[in-house]
Amino acid sequence: MDDRVFRNTMGKFATGVTVITTKVGEDVHGMTANAFMSVSLDPKLITISIDNKANMLEKIKSSGQFAVSILGEEQQDISMHFAGQKKKEDGIDFDLVHNVPIVRDALATVVCDVHDSHVVGDHTLFIGKVFEISLRDGNPLTFYQGKYGNYAPVEYA
Ligand code: FAD
Ligand code: NAD
Repeated sequence: MDDRVFRNTMGKFATGVTVITTKVGEDVHGMTANAFMSVSLDPKLITISIDNKANMLEKIKSSGQFAVSILGEEQQDISMHFAGQKKKEDGIDFDLVHNVPIVRDALATVVCDVHDSHVVGDHTLFIGKVFEISLRDGNPLTFYQGKYGNYAPVEYA
């Protein structure tokens, strides 16, 4: 099976966009990700999938903690920055929650301890045990067929 056809097919699944963040000593690191899923309510667990070649992998292994910042529709520049697509010239603001960085003004954030991890093919799944959350009003940034977009709810009569 061709990689491009696989990616085009996965790209038919519309998602939000997140930035994964962690901190090792004073070194804050961020990475754009859309492979994010809610897993369990009791206990509260989420999962992310990180490419085994990503710099983020060893950083989460070292820190044992990470945050997921769900981006709002006005934060495409932040997604592009943390995907290495286009540098954001006016810088990035982080806040610290129990010493874990989050993206300032994200639509929502979940802050986790690493509960478990599994190497699965060329990615590693991290299961996060959520210990802090935040959310604000607003609309999400979306990703569909390899393109950014926004969200339009369908109004039913
Ligand atoms: P690097 O390439 O080292 O860093 C990414 C960028 O962030 C660099 O430009 C770096 O300068 C900047 N940066 C990092 N930390 C800071 C900081 N503290 N302050 C300022 N800038 C900083 N990959 C996956 O593995 N899983 C996914 O689920 C996933 N989903 C994606 C979804 C979308 C919509 C896109 C566009 C990409 C996705 N990627 C995903 C790809 C991933 O974002 C890139 O391959 C990324 O560059 C790999 O991260 P890295 O840890 O190697 O970071
Ligand atoms: P794309 O067409 O590559 O992405 C469409 C979909 O394919 C993604 O939403 C994801 O579900 C899947 N996908 C893409 N790359 C993957 C990978 N390496 N492993 C597993 N699934 C993958 O979109 P694009 O605009 O060309 O992406 C920009 C860059 O970000 C590419 O280098 C892409 O590989 C990377 N990316 C990686 C992941 C991931 O690792 N899970 C997810 C999205 C994008």
